Amino acid sequence: MKNEKQLILSRLPKVDVILGRPSMKRWEQTYSRTLIKQAVQEVLAAIRQDVLSGTCQNVPSEAEIEEAVVQYFQDHQQLHLRPVINGAGTILHTNLGRAVLSKRISQHVAAIASSYSNLEYDLDGGHRGSRYRHLQTILKKLTGAEDVLVVNNNAAAVLLALTTLIKGKEVIISRGELVEIGGFFRIPEVIELSGGMIREVGTTNKTHMEDYRQAINENTGAIMKVHTSNYRVIGFTETVPEEKMAALAHEQGLPFINDLGSGLFIDMRRFGLPYEPTVGEALRQGCDVVTFSGDKLLGGPQAGIIVGKTCYIEQMKKNQLLRALRVDKMTLAALEATLHLYLDEDIAVRDIPVLQMLSQSQRVCMNKADTLCQELEKCNLPVEVAVEPCRDMVGGGSYPEYTLPGYVVTMETDQCTTAELERRLRHGEIPIISRIQKDKVCLSVRTITEDDFSTICNVVRDLF
Ligand SMILES: *Cc1c(COP(=O)(O)O)cnc(C)c1O
Repeated sequence: MKNEKQLILSRLPKVDVILGRPSMKRWEQTYSRTLIKQAVQEVLAAIRQDVLSGTCQNVPSEAEIEEAVVQYFQDHQQLHLRPVINGAGTILHTNLGRAVLSKRISQHVAAIASSYSNLEYDLDGGHRGSRYRHLQTILKKLTGAEDVLVVNNNAAAVLLALTTLIKGKEVIISRGELVEIGGFFRIPEVIELSGGMIREVGTTNKTHMEDYRQAINENTGAIMKVHTSNYRVIGFTETVPEEKMAALAHEQGLPFINDLGSGLFIDMRRFGLPYEPTVGEALRQGCDVVTFSGDKLLGGPQAGIIVGKTCYIEQMKKNQLLRALRVDKMTLAALEATLHLYLDEDIAVRDIPVLQMLSQSQRVCMNKADTLCQELEKCNLPVEVAVEPCRDMVGGGSYPEYTLPGYVVTMETDQCTTAELERRLRHGEIPIISRIQKDKVCLSVRTITEDDFSTICNVVRDLF
């Protein structure tokens, strides 16, 4: 037995023989000889392992080894982070990268990334400028804020605001707002991390004006409100209106901080969703510092935006922590371009993918689903396709109790189980993320564009 393995090993072709094969010569146009040699050595080493463990019992031919090396290159050429098709119907799918940018904005980002820019250069004066200036005017215009600042994400925005304003002091916050957002971002822990102390008031379901008032003492640094984005307390509940909290804070010379979570510039009732205050409204209600995300309902890149009173934002600009939380040029490019669209609400709804998906009526979804279904039928595959109504989600911790009426294309096959079909789609050349509903694989068309239909057909064709 031992000798048999040795015999196979001794008959394996030498590295140089494989390197002389025709396709290896072709790869030399793309890769250095060193890289190709390394690939051949790794493939041969893997075969030797298989021979010794008994999984490989024949001498593979030169052509087979050559093919294995080509496969090795193809696998290693594939980047790990790549585009997928979201058929899950959740618009702000955190696992799938939250907000999608439009093609036009992506092109602007690419232009800024692949060229020098005036990121920190003042073109008028010909001297050093600030990266935060690019968004100053537009954010002030859209929100009515005195001053603005942008950091890496909203978690960073909250951390910077708290570290700057309440270090060594108490921040008063309702027990109903000590929330955990996805990915272990917990308000009580962020307050501790900022060097502040939590002064919890009220109860989970009810907090009164008197609770806040009685908690104020000489060591109070701020009063805070946190949007309970991803859950709702319903029934016997009470919260204090923002105007009243602001009045109380100002009476005592304290800042009133409001973490809105998802920042809005548009009244969501336009999309049939319940009312939520916009960033501008929050400021008019008397909030001194408002923080929100760039990539939730705003529909921009990952970013944390801080708007409010100059006296507080100035302090944050001087905080050393800002350097660690700073946004890069690609984020600034995408955010500025997204904000520009908001100068005209109708253009924002037309051109920002998140808002397009939100505003897609059930009728539009049905027509899209019909088209996709027909295109899949034309492929003549052993898959049964049909159109069915569904409920889609906003996601990103927004509107947890609310669903949008949409349509899915369902897929069934007798060639494999539902779970296996779901897995195969996920492993396609372009991965397709589906959801399973009533034991059928479903693709919700709200989060899929018509441009993706032919890709979906190609991927599904490859599966059978
Ligand atoms: C989502 C959210 C955050 C975190 O925002 P990121 O941009 O994901 O860092 C913080 N606070 C609230 C209330 C949120 O909803």
